[in-house]
Amino acid sequence: MDEPEMRRDPVAGRWVVIAPGRAARPLELADAQPRCGPASVVVCPFCEGAERETPNEVYALRAPGSAPNGPGWQLRVGPNLYPAVRQEEPNPPTPFPGREGGAEVSSLAPPSLPGKGVGGLGSSAFSSLFLSAPAYGRAEVLIDCPAHIDDPTQLSDAQMGEVFRAYRERLTALASDTRLAHVAIFKNVGAEAGASIAHTHSQLIALPVVPELIRTELNGAADHFARTGRCVFCELVERELADGARVVAQTANFVAVTAHAPRFAYEMWVLPRGHEARYESITDGAARELAGLVKRVVRALDTVRHAPAYNWFLHTSPLHAGEPAHYHWHLEVMPRTARPAGLEWGHGFHIVTVAPERAASELRAALAG
Ligand SMILES: [Zn+2]
Ligand SMILES: [Zn+2]
Ligand SMILES: [Zn+2]
Repeated sequence: MDEPEMRRDPVAGRWVVIAPGRAARPLELADAQPRCGPASVVVCPFCEGAERETPNEVYALRAPGSAPNGPGWQLRVGPNLYPAVRQEEPNPPTPFPGREGGAEVSSLAPPSLPGKGVGGLGSSAFSSLFLSAPAYGRAEVLIDCPAHIDDPTQLSDAQMGEVFRAYRERLTALASDTRLAHVAIFKNVGAEAGASIAHTHSQLIALPVVPELIRTELNGAADHFARTGRCVFCELVERELADGARVVAQTANFVAVTAHAPRFAYEMWVLPRGHEARYESITDGAARELAGLVKRVVRALDTVRHAPAYNWFLHTSPLHAGEPAHYHWHLEVMPRTARPAGLEWGHGFHIVTVAPERAASELRAALAG
């Protein structure tokens, strides 16, 4: 494929250009620039033995008999020392604009109702142009392991499995707070992808609103369901497996593909093969299986692109949205193979210089080798 081609993301509806002929965009982050770590610190606050550097844990896997907030843990979750949201209820309690009681209004409209947004706040909910509200929520840090490891693929399969199991445990725990609408779970690896501490960790930010990209996906998925009666992700998985060109790797229950319309070259999506609306329903065994697959495909990415910075993030149904038939959780792996500039930030339009089919074949070759 030499001529530029426009492609539409089947879920979010975003258009991108695949332009392999456009050799080396000026802002392409070259292979010769592997991810650099955040500036090193004298004492890593995430290492075993430095527990007093972080707030008290809310979840941990510990050796029997070890005391909370001391050594003896395998994985640890606690509040972020620099939270973007505040955990205290505003005093006096302030109702969130557009919410009745707890969760965001109309968090999921039935997909059969045409023209009705999903997760949208009806305009009648707002009487003011400049809305604001107290930033109530939860910000947590999940430290993957006690030893100072900066590359998640260096975790053992068992350790990575515990990370994916902990995502489920925290989602389930945070869902009990009806004031929260959504939990964003993500990992930043490398300074270019926003990591400020090198020690491998994930972040969870629970919000009183459904974030925009989730809302866009929910809307797109509801439209697809209204038109076809099918979950767009189930259909995508079926077609990708049948075609194979963008399949990077698969297991009994999961598949990793390069995105049809990526924002960055080598962008990958990892999806359950069967319909799963909520990540919370993942079993321990499936979490281990997912972890092994993610580890392999990220290692292949590191091989092919010489360890780029990347983010991975979990997209799952909002907390109090039930079990939507049209939405399907997935993990997106977003390598920083280019630096977003005016076109991307200002218009949400991306140019990608490696076709996803070529990216998938390179990743498969790395996995085989
Ligand atoms: Zn450390
Ligand atoms: Zn599905
Ligand atoms: Zn997504």
